[in-house]
Amino acid sequence: MTDDNGCSHLDQIHEVEASTDGCEDCIKIGDFWMHLRLCMECGHVGCCDQSKNKHATAHFHQTQHPIIKSFEPGEDWGWCFVDEVEVDERWPIRGMKVHTRAADRENERLYYRHR
Ligand SMILES: [Zn+2]
Ligand SMILES: [Zn+2]
Ligand SMILES: [Zn+2]
Repeated sequence: MTDDNGCSHLDQIHEVEASTDGCEDCIKIGDFWMHLRLCMECGHVGCCDQSKNKHATAHFHQTQHPIIKSFEPGEDWGWCFVDEVEVDERWPIRGMKVHTRAADRENERLYYRHR
């Protein structure tokens, strides 16, 4: 299956449910993030490449899950790590499509711990 934008991984988009409200791996190590991304193959929530830990990209390297969707309020774009193109789909997400204010509050708490 190939989209007209050149991504050949659309069949790896699954119906997912976000694993955490916040970056799963940052919360584990007590660190903070900039923006959040949702893995559309398994529901892993990771932080973006402007975050120091880059957990969304790390998750791709670990698992080869190719497609993420922004988990930021008001953002609906996706990205394929393999083809390096934007992916625009009707995302099959159960539950939260973006993170909540609770995630922002947790992130602020983690941030101030690191100053
Ligand atoms: Zn692709
Ligand atoms: Zn992270
Ligand atoms: Zn994944």
